[in-house]
Amino acid sequence: MAKVKRQLAMMMDLNKCIGCQTCTIACKRLWTRDEGMDYMWWNTVNTMPGAGTPRDWEEMGGGFKDGVAQAGRLPTRREFGEAWEFNYQEVFYGGKGKDTHLKVVGDEPEWGPNWDEDQGAGEYPNAYYFYLPRICNHCTNAACLEACPRKAIEKREEDGIVVINEDRCKGYRFCMEACPYKKIYFNHAKNVAQKCIFCFPRVEQSVAPACARQCPGRLRFVGYRDDEEGPIWKLVEKWKVALPLHPEYGTDANVFYVPPLAPARIDEDGNFDESQPRIPNEYLISLFGEEVLTSLEVLKAEMAKTRDGKTSELMDILIARHWPDMFGDFTRDPATIKWVEA
Ligand code: SF4
Ligand code: SF4
Ligand code: SF4
Repeated sequence: MAKVKRQLAMMMDLNKCIGCQTCTIACKRLWTRDEGMDYMWWNTVNTMPGAGTPRDWEEMGGGFKDGVAQAGRLPTRREFGEAWEFNYQEVFYGGKGKDTHLKVVGDEPEWGPNWDEDQGAGEYPNAYYFYLPRICNHCTNAACLEACPRKAIEKREEDGIVVINEDRCKGYRFCMEACPYKKIYFNHAKNVAQKCIFCFPRVEQSVAPACARQCPGRLRFVGYRDDEEGPIWKLVEKWKVALPLHPEYGTDANVFYVPPLAPARIDEDGNFDESQPRIPNEYLISLFGEEVLTSLEVLKAEMAKTRDGKTSELMDILIARHWPDMFGDFTRDPATIKWVEA
């Protein structure tokens, strides 16, 4: 396991995500516009319950069990979803705009990111869903790093960000099999693996990652895990409401989530029924482990306190009235920096 001096982390409050995909586009615009990257979305926001990106990624294996690496499957490009070509020319410039509509050119698409958006689960009137934004977890025990025979994956000593050295990568894709979160893409044009870099060129200039800084929901917090004055430490260590996704994957993820609360169920007479959660506990446990139940109880208790007019440090952090409080050391305005294109 790579030793680091400090570990950067992100925390996302799932109660605030509106599924707008601003984060997805912020990342795309900055990092995945080159050749071979058109189908890549280093940041994804999927509807849960759902198959996600790549399709059914939770069933593809990888990670560790009792410290032993587990076999994983390589996600295919079709499972991620192709970057479709549309008939823009015909609709916008071909004079047929009134007779035809935008559609995919070529093979009929079978799957893509957010194919099952907003479907969720459950039966009316108790259907439910929530959005799950995902990036690389910059794991402490990174399965991708362990699996690479070229030692092309590095965990940066200064901040724990996991990066792929494209000069060393030979495109073997063992990292893609090993990552249980399936957060690595393959660039067929360059024959290298590529993934979220936690916006390290921004971080080095004290600027928060683009997906976090541009999130209108104010749900993404950024900081060092050992900063006891910062929101990450308070939410993860002090209040223990923020949990890693699939902790059983054994990689010690450094992205955390405040789990989703849901409205009360509605019974047959149309009345609220608080006795049963709308989102089944078993489902949330399958995502975040048993600790999710305690986390939800703490959230409910602190919400009740604020309803009674009392103050709650936890609610004040999560509401994030003052956005710089969400980003610790990374509040610099990116517009103040003279960026140089590589
Ligand atoms: Fe590696 Fe996957 Fe962990 Fe990212 S999420 S550090 S790609 S194992
Ligand atoms: Fe993309 Fe940066 Fe967010 Fe990673 S941290 S998903 S590279 S915007
Ligand atoms: Fe959710 Fe924020 Fe991303 Fe919008 S930008 S989808 S609110 S995480």
